Amino acid sequence: MSINATVQYSILCRQYATVQDYTSHFGFGETLAGLIGIECTTIWNHTSHDDPLWSARALIDNPGEIKRVHTSFLHSGANIILTDSYQASIEGFCRHAQCTSEAAISVIKRSVSIAKEACQEFLEETQNKEGNELSRNLLVGGSVGPYGACQFDKSEYHGNYVDKMNLEELKSWHRPRIKILVEAGVDFLAVETIPALVEAEAILQVLNEFPSVICWVSFSCKDQTHLCHGEKFCDAVTTVETYKQVEAVGINCSAPEHVQGLLSSIHGKSTKPIVVYANNGQEWWKKRFDNNPDYISYVLGWLEQGAKIIGGCCGVTPADIEDIRNAIKDRLTTKFIHSDN
Ligand SMILES: [Zn+2]
Repeated sequence: MSINATVQYSILCRQYATVQDYTSHFGFGETLAGLIGIECTTIWNHTSHDDPLWSARALIDNPGEIKRVHTSFLHSGANIILTDSYQASIEGFCRHAQCTSEAAISVIKRSVSIAKEACQEFLEETQNKEGNELSRNLLVGGSVGPYGACQFDKSEYHGNYVDKMNLEELKSWHRPRIKILVEAGVDFLAVETIPALVEAEAILQVLNEFPSVICWVSFSCKDQTHLCHGEKFCDAVTTVETYKQVEAVGINCSAPEHVQGLLSSIHGKSTKPIVVYANNGQEWWKKRFDNNPDYISYVLGWLEQGAKIIGGCCGVTPADIEDIRNAIKDRLTTKFIHSDN
């Protein structure tokens, strides 16, 4: 059986930056309720990141906070949420949280159960209220971040490690987490913030081993034409589209001002739904996350250019997602079609 996905205008949120904001500033395991959105990013501006597990630490120390962040994005209007597994790896938990391999696997599985519980509870909570939310088809995407995101050396932003690793090494590194996420029952995999084409291909070749799984692939890009590692975005898109499990392609965690050019570069060349969830335009390592009031106007432009799945990555808040939803609510739908074709 194969699975085909039809995705029209959907709205997506990215939670890990917000979880990361909380955990990095307040210490792990503390009660963090009451600080959301702009407040936390403002506080985050004055802090540093010194935990190699980043947001993945919360899977151990504060899973309730992750669920709370998921829920807040659902209330803001997101139809798709992504698991807090972007920076999660077995060796990372073993090295930095003194987990056994078995414990690390169950921690990564927890990222899926938390997201699914958040969706279930959200639907139960809202189904009897005015504006019945049962019509909302929520999806949980398993976040598959790049190798560099688990190295705590900012290498996800240039991807130069691919020059020293061969395809098999990349596949070996990605395989365990993909297996865990798939077995835990995600609706699809969000292969995201990928800086280099070869890493996307390594992941897609691993996905061959899980033939019922579908995914999107979104790249991180350094300008209006190129991936962070330097390949042309249009070449990367047309290459990953040849893999049959890819249901959407696009851009995430890139500066919003680059997206228009990137979308232009694939106009007429891509045959898949386009996913865009840029960051809010500020570079997090320079510690200057502020609200970007222009984000919504960027989003409307991307929709004009044909983007079908839109949302926000680092620094984009539930309030931004709510603005987007209100602006395009008449066009929103999310539908996956399972077929035997
Ligand atoms: Zn991001």
